[in-house]
Amino acid sequence: MLKIITAPNPLLTKVSTEITANNFKPNEIMVGSPDGPMTLQVLISVMVATMYANPACGLAAPQLGVSKRVIVYNPDEDNEPDDKDTDKTVIMVNPVIKDFSDATNIESETCLSLPGIEANIKRHTAIIVEYLDEDLEVKVKSVKDWEAKIIQHEIDHLDGYLFWDRKGTLKGALQNKYRLAKIKANKQRKHKHG
Ligand SMILES: [Zn+2]
Repeated sequence: MLKIITAPNPLLTKVSTEITANNFKPNEIMVGSPDGPMTLQVLISVMVATMYANPACGLAAPQLGVSKRVIVYNPDEDNEPDDKDTDKTVIMVNPVIKDFSDATNIESETCLSLPGIEANIKRHTAIIVEYLDEDLEVKVKSVKDWEAKIIQHEIDHLDGYLFWDRKGTLKGALQNKYRLAKIKANKQRKHKHG
């Protein structure tokens, strides 16, 4: 059984890679894990079981040491974490945030990979996310509030961010990445010419 890894394990700050295959069959796609290769289908079932066992409202593959773009969550907020309606489990493979609201809110977050830490994090209140479901069919979901927050938190794991890295909003992070790319480009240019 895969174990939850906690900071400062370097796997948590790695950018995860997409699930790719010519033949999109979850029971045939193999992914590497600390326990050796397993099918995507097994990875997903281990992730769901681990989420409910802890209990947590969401989990990203890197938290089990698997650097693949897969998240699972349950948006059911009516129940206690250990009493969730498991029919509401959502599986997202290769999720991409296509659009997000300008509106943000700040709420307390916790993370299984940062045990004992709680912090107020600013998130977009609404997002549109495109992903592949557990059958690897393309889906688009428009979500808000609690569900939008979980997805943003879990996708951050795929990009190697923990919530304590998230000082601004997505927009801020994208600008930071852009700036970083520019600085790198300038450095390379300097290097070339100098
Ligand atoms: Zn987390």
